[in-house]
Amino acid sequence: MTESDSPTPDGPSSADLDAAIAAARERYQAERAKRVRPDGNAQYGELTGDFAEFDRDPFADPDYHRDPLSEEVEVLVIGCGFAGMLTTIELKARGFDDVRMVDRAGDFGGTWYWNRYPGCMCDVESYTYLPLLEETGYMPTEKYASAVEIFSYAQLVGRHYDLYPHALFHTEVVEAVWDEAALRWRVRTNWGDTLSCRFLVTAGGILHKAKLPGIAGISRFKGRAFHTSRWNYDVTGGAPGVFMDKLADKRVAVIGTGATAVQVVPRVAEAAQELFVFQRTPSAVGQRDNGPTDEAWFASLAPGWHAERVKNFTEAVTGKKPEVDLVDDGWTHVMWDDTQTKSDDPEVTRQQERSDFLTMEEIRQRVTRIVEDPETAAKLQPWYGKHCKRVCFHDEYLPAFNRPNVHLVDTDGHGVDEITENGVVACGVEYPVDVIVFASGFEVTTDLEHRLGFDPEGRGGIRMSERWSDGAHSLHGILSAEFPNLLMISLVQAGFGTNFLHFLSKSAEHVAWIIATCEERGIATIEATPEAEEEWYELLLGVAMGIAGYSTRCTPGYYNSEQGRDSKTARNLVYTGSLLEYAGFLERWRGDGSMSGALITEGT
Ligand code: NDP
Repeated sequence: MTESDSPTPDGPSSADLDAAIAAARERYQAERAKRVRPDGNAQYGELTGDFAEFDRDPFADPDYHRDPLSEEVEVLVIGCGFAGMLTTIELKARGFDDVRMVDRAGDFGGTWYWNRYPGCMCDVESYTYLPLLEETGYMPTEKYASAVEIFSYAQLVGRHYDLYPHALFHTEVVEAVWDEAALRWRVRTNWGDTLSCRFLVTAGGILHKAKLPGIAGISRFKGRAFHTSRWNYDVTGGAPGVFMDKLADKRVAVIGTGATAVQVVPRVAEAAQELFVFQRTPSAVGQRDNGPTDEAWFASLAPGWHAERVKNFTEAVTGKKPEVDLVDDGWTHVMWDDTQTKSDDPEVTRQQERSDFLTMEEIRQRVTRIVEDPETAAKLQPWYGKHCKRVCFHDEYLPAFNRPNVHLVDTDGHGVDEITENGVVACGVEYPVDVIVFASGFEVTTDLEHRLGFDPEGRGGIRMSERWSDGAHSLHGILSAEFPNLLMISLVQAGFGTNFLHFLSKSAEHVAWIIATCEERGIATIEATPEAEEEWYELLLGVAMGIAGYSTRCTPGYYNSEQGRDSKTARNLVYTGSLLEYAGFLERWRGDGSMSGALITEGT
């Protein structure tokens, strides 16, 4: 599929290749060893206390106010991102209109409401990523849509499906308690609302809780600092998609070099007087090749094209090798071979390592071709396997390092040491700056109740943090024992996919089906049985074992919980096989109709 999968006849000899792979293997382990730290996820700081200002919504009207509400509804959906929107749309399609949606954000969009940093876009093709394109008749303007376009598409979907009347924005749930006598959830919010519902859907807490590097001195800094997901255009000037005109006399630090930084750096580079990029681990950055949508091609797509394309993409990036590669982009090329699932056949293992090496080698060579200074190029090369971190695709990130005002500060795996009043200290050197941008990511594998921001209180007053004190317990990641009529859409014990919207749409469909089926069959409560939870966990564990060897050899990151391997973190795992397999479990469960593994009480 890729250049690298089929080395040319005049490529390296087999012996040379084996030697290069052996050397890379050693280098991977050396780079990993530099980065593994005993504190794992705990190395990061929360945006609370001294850092609460980092979490303020810069896009909200500071004078927004409303009186508390008291409401009884059938379904309460927490989260107005695509997960919550798709769930509500599915519910409405099944005749449920008594649905209330709440979100801390000021509009629909979730991730795309919060992430308005310069250069923000989706790295999955828009025709595949954006949901409901056939239903809304919307044609994305580019192959890879900008965040501005995706946010406005979320608003369009909100209008198209008449979701706005359902939504309470700027609203955070602070408490959710199961009332066993009334068979309802009682929910309180930051406005003092008292909401009650039969079914509570949590459709949030995935990539929304920003984190800061756990380094000393952040609050000492006298300049301006913010997290990428709360971009401060008052400081930088400009707007999403518009040149930042207040940075021309500013020295800017970007801390972090993950998928977000890869998009931010080119935009800051063109605007700032000086840009210092602080790197702990380089990203793997492949070719993007964005372009406008071919309108004639888009108009020619036959009904049903979207579902087919979504499925085809997931097949292509999970090693299922569909007959045709419909998307045919960096993702499908790089991920065409599944090189992480363990095989008992040594020849397969050898081919996997070879394929992985060649793909990563091509990415490393791309750096040397683009970045002019050899020392900088060497530091930007990723030395880990292709499944270790989310691969990035960008055509302006690497060239940004050829600009005289852009400086890579590579910390050789150690990270930034501290922040002072004046700037950032790395490897013992202080870099004075005016603005610090934390591109330090989000909580992904921390406890769900922590990410939700409230601790659901189930039957008999048991809190999720208590019932899940040894890690998550669920059936499909969606139902949990002792939490009747709570339906969760999150990564915890659930699916995961390169195209996150594929996962969300499958989850939304399942959640809406459960609620509608309970209604039809006169089921009052539904939750998982502890036995079914254990069976599901065993299944998750079995699949995870298939990639465990690969994963433990990786550099730390959120894919592997920063290599924190305690038993609790282990239970908060995702389904590590293909999303199509995960969706298959849900489909078979619904198709069977018996709701096996669910504890059900009859009568409404
Ligand atoms: P990441 O968690 O991927 O990156 C955080 C970065 O901060 C890493 O480079 C990390 O280094 C670095 N870091 C952490 N602590 C320190 C420190 N003390 N000193 C220096 N550097 C430090 O977060 P992102 O926001 O970049 O991306 C998160 C996820 O969001 C993506 O993986 C993706 O799922 C999603 N995303 C999706 C996009 C899309 O187009 N669909 C675009 C952007 C983001 P290290 O690697 O060593 O830990």
